[in-house]
Amino acid sequence: MSNPLLRLQDLPPFSAIRAELIEPAIRQVLDENRAELQQLLEAREFSWASLVVPLEEMQHRLSRTWSPVGHLNGVLNSDELRAAYNICLPLLTAWHTDLAQNEQLHRAYEHILRNEGASLNAGQRKLLENALRDFRLAGVALPQAQKQRFKQVMEQLATLQSKFDENVLDATNAWSKHITNPGEICGLPSSIVERARSAAQTQQQEGWLFALDAPNYQAVLMHAEHEPLRQDFYSAWSTRASDQSPLGDRWNNSNLMQQILALRHELANIVGFANYAEYSIATKMASSVTEVREFLEQLATRSRPVAQREYDELTALAGRALNAWDVGFYAERLKQKRFALSEEALRPYFPLPRVLAGMFSVAEKLYGVRIVERPDVDVYHDDAKLYDILNADGSRRGSFFVDLYARPKKRGGAWMDECVGRRRLGSKSSQPVAYLVCNFMPPSRSSSAPVAGANEGPPSSEKPSLLTHSEVVTMFHEFGHGLHHMLTRVDYPSIAGINGVAWDAVELPSQFMENFAWRAEVLPLISGHVDTGEPLPQAELERLLGSRTFQAGMQTARQLEFALFDWRIHAEYTPENHGRIMDVLKEVRDHVAVVKPPAFNRFPHSFQHIFSGGYAAGYYSYKWAEVLAADAFSAFEEQGIFNEAVSRKFLTAILEQGGSKDAMDAFVEFRGRKPRIEPLLRQLGLAA
Ligand SMILES: [Zn+2]
Repeated sequence: MSNPLLRLQDLPPFSAIRAELIEPAIRQVLDENRAELQQLLEAREFSWASLVVPLEEMQHRLSRTWSPVGHLNGVLNSDELRAAYNICLPLLTAWHTDLAQNEQLHRAYEHILRNEGASLNAGQRKLLENALRDFRLAGVALPQAQKQRFKQVMEQLATLQSKFDENVLDATNAWSKHITNPGEICGLPSSIVERARSAAQTQQQEGWLFALDAPNYQAVLMHAEHEPLRQDFYSAWSTRASDQSPLGDRWNNSNLMQQILALRHELANIVGFANYAEYSIATKMASSVTEVREFLEQLATRSRPVAQREYDELTALAGRALNAWDVGFYAERLKQKRFALSEEALRPYFPLPRVLAGMFSVAEKLYGVRIVERPDVDVYHDDAKLYDILNADGSRRGSFFVDLYARPKKRGGAWMDECVGRRRLGSKSSQPVAYLVCNFMPPSRSSSAPVAGANEGPPSSEKPSLLTHSEVVTMFHEFGHGLHHMLTRVDYPSIAGINGVAWDAVELPSQFMENFAWRAEVLPLISGHVDTGEPLPQAELERLLGSRTFQAGMQTARQLEFALFDWRIHAEYTPENHGRIMDVLKEVRDHVAVVKPPAFNRFPHSFQHIFSGGYAAGYYSYKWAEVLAADAFSAFEEQGIFNEAVSRKFLTAILEQGGSKDAMDAFVEFRGRKPRIEPLLRQLGLAA
């Protein structure tokens, strides 16, 4: 019987994917790819059509097979899936490294660029230049022993990074809080309380059972009046997968983190860089280690005094020195006092279906597309849905899965990932498909008493997920990534959508999109009271918009803390100092942070962005790209946010280009000049 993971033409056949099919499928694709490569390299003449196009097809085939596996491992983790995933990781890493270290292939690509460069278009040349750079970064010209070591290091890194993720997931899943005394849950939103009650009932327990997921954690830190409860959650969350975890040492990431830093440093050294930060810069928009450091320091200088002022206001409100677990709680109180605005009170105005429909209509206005749900597709979980993006003429441009609710065995956070990449390779073509994943509060499905204040529905009625406005912003962010992936017009998978885009420019379309969630023109489109359908009243809307820069100094300081920490542990690593992970964190906090976390805080141990994700020596990318995003959006502010000329230019100059164009060139094409930092400073309320 044929393996359903092979020769995928349409969407992944999720219901047919079983763990035991994964390794054979990956092995088969890799074997076929190796055989085909061998055959291609036996040719005497190499050309774009005879070599590059088939290689793009091979990579596409592999990523089509692997994408649903990686996705399921992230959102529906199980022991079987995890085992299959981990067996395949080194196989995939070996394939990619072998390809990038293949001297014959390297020479063939050089030949094609020399020979056909003049007749190729700019995107095709960019693809070849990226490839030549990646050959160099994999040490293609090095002696065999060093190449071999490079390859080993890559494989070890893939395995260790995966283990890091597993520890975070397992440590998060292992902790829960069972409460029977109603006094301890005072202040918590009724939706959170209901959810915890239903979780307790499922376990045949009295009272309330709280898992350690994002909706619960945020609600407790922001609203729980009982300080010990906030402290409990804060301690559990900030010590996950560490030596300080209340659950013991079982998932401690300390050693993994050191090993990961050591291997990255070695990797950079092998291919001629002084450290991993330098290696990271080689593929980015930023031009030097110094430039990144200075960029971050400049923002730190701007934001630190503002952050301190904001923090002092909180302390004054509390009338005492604050612990780290008090900050969110008093921030929420200050916000209510100052703006008569509560994140929680606005939730009923942002039912998820309404937010999605409004957000889609924003994209429709901006880019002349239409978005419709496609029912009856094969999904892996009831929470997942599929939407199509249609062109004006009704033809399909791309599609995306959404999977938006927190649940056990699902990685925390929010992200966009590629399901299918766009390709037009000879007679073969595919349209882009994305995954948009978040961890919002699930709809309340319990048939128990309705939430206080809500209209009584039939006993089995489902109340949709109600978002806070910051979750709405998160939704816009991931959708922005999705549009980048799905609206691309590039034919070659390795430079289509977000592929081949300098990583410090990748957060441009996402952070750009966030701006729309903060506009008076857009809020009526994305809000509608869950019971009455009434959009956010004008007075609330104005207060919400007025609160945009609330504690922006503290938020910026926090992002800079993460970015400087990431930057320094990679730039300053030596085999003797082992990265000084906790020491560097302390120095960075002394320098930029106004909230001083307790000594037991082990934030780095669950910092997946840099230890297991794509942001190693690259977390600065958020702030870097935010400059681009704010400056790009200022063009919309100048001309009207739905101005067709501006939005179509953004579409053609940035979104459709994917990685086929240098990020700076694409920005200049859109904006008519290089990026300026002032729009971001204005947006954050940090302008002089
Ligand atoms: Zn992002």
